[in-house]
Amino acid sequence: MEKIIKKRVILFPLPLQGCINPMLQLAKILYSRGFSITIIHTTFNAPKSSDHPLFTFLQIQDGLSETQTQTRDVLLQLTLLNNNCENPLRKCLAKLIKHDSSDSRTEETKVTCLIDDSGWVFTQSVADSFNLPRLVLCAYKFTFFLGHLLVPQIRRDGFLPLPDSEAEELVPMFPPLRKKDLVRIMGNKSQVEHLDSYLVKILETTKPASGIIVMSCEELDQDSLAESHKVFTFPIYPIGPSHIHDVPASSSSLFEPDQSCIPWLDKNETRSVLYVSLGSIVTMSESEFLEIACGLKNTNLAFLWVVRPGSVHGRDWIESLALGFMESLEGKGKIVKWAPQLDVLAHRATGGFLTHNGWNSTLESICEGVPMISLPFVWDQLLNARFVSDVWRIGIHLEGRIERGEIERAVRRLMVESEGEEILERIKVLQDEVRRSVKRGGSSYRSLDELVDRISSF
Ligand code: UDP
Repeated sequence: MEKIIKKRVILFPLPLQGCINPMLQLAKILYSRGFSITIIHTTFNAPKSSDHPLFTFLQIQDGLSETQTQTRDVLLQLTLLNNNCENPLRKCLAKLIKHDSSDSRTEETKVTCLIDDSGWVFTQSVADSFNLPRLVLCAYKFTFFLGHLLVPQIRRDGFLPLPDSEAEELVPMFPPLRKKDLVRIMGNKSQVEHLDSYLVKILETTKPASGIIVMSCEELDQDSLAESHKVFTFPIYPIGPSHIHDVPASSSSLFEPDQSCIPWLDKNETRSVLYVSLGSIVTMSESEFLEIACGLKNTNLAFLWVVRPGSVHGRDWIESLALGFMESLEGKGKIVKWAPQLDVLAHRATGGFLTHNGWNSTLESICEGVPMISLPFVWDQLLNARFVSDVWRIGIHLEGRIERGEIERAVRRLMVESEGEEILERIKVLQDEVRRSVKRGGSSYRSLDELVDRISSF
């Protein structure tokens, strides 16, 4: 009897919520195109395998201590993970590949390629040692991906110290980023050496890959995609926001979403609620937290606010709010530990999103046509926020001013004033363009077809 050979794709996400979501979504898309899926993951931030019964999950030991899993220093965490995971991944792949080739049943799977994040800097050499093609997943806006690789060079060119008079100027090699944004991306003194060598490593280990899959589309990233050939010679697959492809939805949340958000939203008028969430990593001081709380309360408008436990320095959750704060809102405000964000953004009652502009959140907001207030803290958030406010003009930038009056003013401009209506019109146009790109004939759809053909040819 002739053997049926099913192609298996191995995916290895960085253990961060913002990387796990697009990687698992990509896995669902590839599964729907006929590939078998194996997810290799670390013990730290392990995805819930029970939410994805059609995939095989294999866990490797990452060697992080409990203190290391709790550090706020993501760069340190990524460095440790990269140091610790090479051998475990190698062993895991060796077993998988051996198992596949010794299988004598009528249906056989063949490991075809490894897909992992650019932030894993040892995986290219591991893949090479098995003659396995490696595709890199870029979960950033592609402009940021290209730009952040230039940071060591920008630093060498003597960018710092930055005179105040230049703070608002654009960074010539990294527009539309302003110089004051770049200062925040370049890291503090103690991080510089680590950060630059990590970025150099990312560039070195991405170049020999077989291609890069980008969670963006031509409609959002045309210029940087056109520039990419100056750096990379391999094919680039901008397959669009992964969560709007036509595959069954399932959560990849590391935290339990509070489902009471939805019936609470149901009780509110259309486009009347401001959704507030700063993603899975951002933390803030207690005084910043209290300024946001007062700013929201003073608007007298409805808000749904995600405050992750541990995200306010020195506090477990929201205990620093004044006694009676929640009661004083008279039902207009709701605070949860984690929300079903996609459902919240898609809800008719959600009219605005105060966001840190992580790339996933930015894409999710665009895809649901929800105008934004940008409060970026670190890294790519600063660039995404510039696109939102300065290029696409689909949001209002707080310019880092975490102050109650500023917050109240921005919320009113977005939710009540005519400026908000103009922003809404613009984001609706962009929403349509991006959603169209993943439909048959659209740019992302074509790119996905090309990616599927490529993986099939391995
Ligand atoms: N998210 C969620 N519930 C929340 C907050 C965030 O499901 O309460 C999801 C959100 O939909 C997004 C991801 O977590 O997919 C956050 O990724 P993003 O790139 O926006 O930010 P990061 O967490 O990486 O800073």
